[in-house]
Amino acid sequence: MTFDSSPIAAIATAPGRGGIGVVRVSGKNLSSVMTAVCGADKGSSLQARHATYLDFLNTDGSVIDQGLAIYFKAPHSYTGEDVLELQGHGGPVVLQMLLTRCLEAGADIGLRMAEPGEFTHRAFLNDKLDLAQAEGVIDLIEASTEAAAKSASQSLSGAFSKTIQDLVDKITNLRMLVEATLDFPEEEIDFLEKSDARGQLNGIREALQTVFSQASQGALLRDGLNIVLAGQPNVGKSSLLNALAGSDIAIVTPIAGTTRDKVIETIQIEGIPVNVIDTAGIRDAADAGDEVERIGIERTWAAVQTADVIVHMLDASRGPTRDDEEIAARFPVNVPVMRIWNKIDLSGHRPAIDRMPDATHIYLSATDLLGMDLLRGELLHLVGWQQTGESLYMARERHLIALKSAHDHLEMAAQHAAHDSEATDPALDLFAEELRLAQDRLSSITGEFTSDDLLGVIFSRFCIGK
Ligand code: GDP
Ligand code: ZN
Repeated sequence: MTFDSSPIAAIATAPGRGGIGVVRVSGKNLSSVMTAVCGADKGSSLQARHATYLDFLNTDGSVIDQGLAIYFKAPHSYTGEDVLELQGHGGPVVLQMLLTRCLEAGADIGLRMAEPGEFTHRAFLNDKLDLAQAEGVIDLIEASTEAAAKSASQSLSGAFSKTIQDLVDKITNLRMLVEATLDFPEEEIDFLEKSDARGQLNGIREALQTVFSQASQGALLRDGLNIVLAGQPNVGKSSLLNALAGSDIAIVTPIAGTTRDKVIETIQIEGIPVNVIDTAGIRDAADAGDEVERIGIERTWAAVQTADVIVHMLDASRGPTRDDEEIAARFPVNVPVMRIWNKIDLSGHRPAIDRMPDATHIYLSATDLLGMDLLRGELLHLVGWQQTGESLYMARERHLIALKSAHDHLEMAAQHAAHDSEATDPALDLFAEELRLAQDRLSSITGEFTSDDLLGVIFSRFCIGK
C-alpha cells in the first residue's frame, strides 16, 4: 500500500437514513471545494471550527440541501490535514449527491473517494493518534457491549499506549546503562550489582505481566466467547438462551424444531459478548429444504469447529437417551464440552456443578432460574475472566502476541544476567540484545517502525468515512 496524499472525501455517517448525515473532506487546498459547495461568499469565509448554516449548492446553482459546514484547519483536525465537514440531512440519496458534488468541485485538486479507514490512517501518519489508539477507534465503533466500549475508549484515549510507552522508557533506561558499560569490559561484572540491573529488569517484567493480564482480559471483551448449544429438541436450549440473556430473544415453544432461521445469538455475561450457536437450527444437510438452508447448515457446522465450548443440554427429568449419544458423537474432539442437565425442577436434583473427566456437568433449571449462576461462573472461568475492577485495555491478538514476545525476550535477558558464577561472566552483550528485541516488540504495538503492509491490513478493516 503506497501512500497517496491527494485529498479524500467520503460519507462519514452510517449507510441508511438518519437524522443527519455527514460528508467529510480532508486534504490540502480545499478552498475551491468550499466556495463551490458552500457558495463564493460563505464558502470563502468559513471560520475554523465554527459551524455555519448554509445552502449546499449543486453545479447549476440549485440547492442540494441546507446544513452546517465546519472547517478544521490543519493541524487541528481529526486527520491533521485541512478538513471540511458538511452536515446535512441523513438520507442516502441526498448525501450521495453532496459527495458527488464535492468530488466534482475538487477534481482540479485531485479529490477522490476515501479508502476504508483512510481518514484515520492519515491521523496516524500525522501523529494525531498512534496505532493502538487508531485500533481503539474501530474497536469503539464495533464494541458490542458497554464493557467493551469502555475498554476501547481506554485504548483510544491513549491509556494503553501510555502504559506501553512507560515500559519502553524503562527498558531504554536500562539499555543505556548496559550499553555504556559494554564499552568498559573490565567493569561488566560490577555493573550488574551497582546499577541493580537485575532489580530493574524484574520490575519491568512484573509491570509487563500486569499489562499482559489487563490486555488479555480486554481482548475477551472484544472477541468474546463462542459457545455451541447442542441437544435434542425440547430439552430447553432456547429457554436457557433466554435465561442467560435475561430477556426473551429466542422463541420458546413446546413444539419441537421451532428454532430454525436464526442460529447465532449474541448475549452478554458480565459485559463479555457471548455468541451462542443454537444447533436446533442445524438439521442434517441431507434433510435440508433448500440450497440456502444447506449453506446455513454448513456455516454453522464450521462455526461449531471453532467454538470455545460446546454446551450439551439434556433433560434431567428424562435421563440420557441414544439420541443424546448420537449428538455427542458429532462434536469435534478438540472442543471442550459442558453437560447441562436441565429441568431439575422436575427431576428433583439440586443445582450443582460437577467437574468430571469427560465434561463439566451442571444441574440447573432454565425456566425456574435455578443454578444459572453456576453456569455463568463456569463460562467465565473457562475463558479465564477475572473480575479485576481495574481498567482493561481493549487489546487485539496482535498486541497480545507482541506482549508475549517482549515477555520472552525479557526472560532471556534475565537468564543472560544470571550467569554470574566464577566461570562465566554475565553475557552483557546478549543481555543488551534481548532488551533491544523486547523494546522493538513493545514499540510495534503503538506503531513505531510498523510495516506499511501491516498498516494497510489494519486500516482496510475500518469502514469508509472513518
Ligand atoms: P429447545 O427445543 O431445546 O429449544 O427447548 P425450549 O427452550 O423451546 O423448551 C421446550 C419446553 O421445555 C418448553 O415448554 C419449556 O417451557 C420447557 N422447559 C425448558 N426448560 C425447562 C425447565 O428448566 N423446567 C421445566 N419444567 N420446563 C422447561
Ligand atoms: Zn429452541
